[in-house]
Amino acid sequence: MPEFKSVRGMRDLLVEETKQLNFIIEKARETAKSYAYGEVTTPIVESNELLCAKTSDEIRNRMFTFKDLGDRTVSLRPEFTASIARLVSNVLKKSPRPIRVLSVGSVYRYDEPQRGRYREFWQSNFELIGSNKPEADAELILLTNNFLNKIGLKNHFFKVGHMGILKGVLNQEGIIEKTQTKILQLMDKKEYAKAFDLIDDNSRSVLESLVKITGKNVFDTIEKIKNQLDGYEKAKNAADNLKNILELVAESDSQLKSIDPVFSRGLEYYTGLIFEVQIPEFDISLGGGGRYDQLIELFGGLSTPAVGVAHGIDRLNIALQIQGIHADDQNIKKVFVIPVTTDLRIRALEISEKLRNSGIFVEFEVMGRKVGKALQYANKINMDYVVLVGESELKTGSVALRDLAKHEQITIKIENLAKKIRE
Ligand code: AMP
Repeated sequence: MPEFKSVRGMRDLLVEETKQLNFIIEKARETAKSYAYGEVTTPIVESNELLCAKTSDEIRNRMFTFKDLGDRTVSLRPEFTASIARLVSNVLKKSPRPIRVLSVGSVYRYDEPQRGRYREFWQSNFELIGSNKPEADAELILLTNNFLNKIGLKNHFFKVGHMGILKGVLNQEGIIEKTQTKILQLMDKKEYAKAFDLIDDNSRSVLESLVKITGKNVFDTIEKIKNQLDGYEKAKNAADNLKNILELVAESDSQLKSIDPVFSRGLEYYTGLIFEVQIPEFDISLGGGGRYDQLIELFGGLSTPAVGVAHGIDRLNIALQIQGIHADDQNIKKVFVIPVTTDLRIRALEISEKLRNSGIFVEFEVMGRKVGKALQYANKINMDYVVLVGESELKTGSVALRDLAKHEQITIKIENLAKKIRE
């Protein structure tokens, strides 16, 4: 047999990394609870037709697609939004609005593997369905900010834009949807020259002037954008909508560092607000989202406005590492329990269960090693305490408790053991 390795782009996540990812996921779930989002679980495998209907060529060309044994063309999900839109268009058709849902899990894209870019990665995905109001858009930015604060990330900032600004101009210039999609995708990659080659002089001059706008203050930037949009009513309305959303966000403590007026997101389903979040030390999107008001209708549901965000758990983990932040489990005391002789196993197990029931992390000696060897191992794996269950101490209802950091050992009554360890 050959020596098997994981498939290219797929990773084995070992204990420490899994712990970090789970810490982030836990915080996403806490955030969901405090914003009243209920968690749903949808399949990893979806119909390829559903996933391709409204996404981006970049994702369409990078899906893991195969025929199942029933000859259906299916794909591993590259994101969650299509699955949630499918749910809302049929199963949840009659649920009271708004619907707020969280999904957590792995997604799959055949991306070129590099730091922060994997073929299997994890997302926490929030969707707020049924409202077209700026409060709904603001909520997704606020909850993202809240979530990132909860995991301990520092100095994160949002890049914010509005698809309605560019689409408003392109629609008014009579540019067909297919060309619009191409232009927006090129602009997303900052390939402006290629994008402008696809349009005539009139629309080109407006887009060129938008590309040049920069500014530290978001509200000043929106005014600058509006000044370039004379005669483009819909685009101007989109800029006003963005202003309304950001006013709501700015009232809270969110760090709205910059606004990029032509900032476009690759996904075709976005119709309004778009945003991404980043940290200064790592030039890659940690999470992104936006408004998609037509997707649910496209899937055969009622016309339903919606807004959502996906956070990249793996990239957040890298961001935390860059900032030197670790999952905080330092308060959990770790105890290693050793029966001094084999016939004391039952008593030692009984004591271990008692400790576990009072919330203590217990590892039991299952290798049958002598005390000396077992102690060496407990030191090596950084246990805080060792409990030695021996004949003479048991006669007085006690055990020996050794503090490995302090190199101290006491004899202690079993009923006081948990309390002492937790001190
Ligand atoms: P998107 O669905 O493209 O908006 O992506 C949402 C988030 O998923 C991004 O902001 C990233 O944090 C994360 N992400 C996207 N692609 C990858 C990838 N190949 N590897 C790891 N994380 C990714």
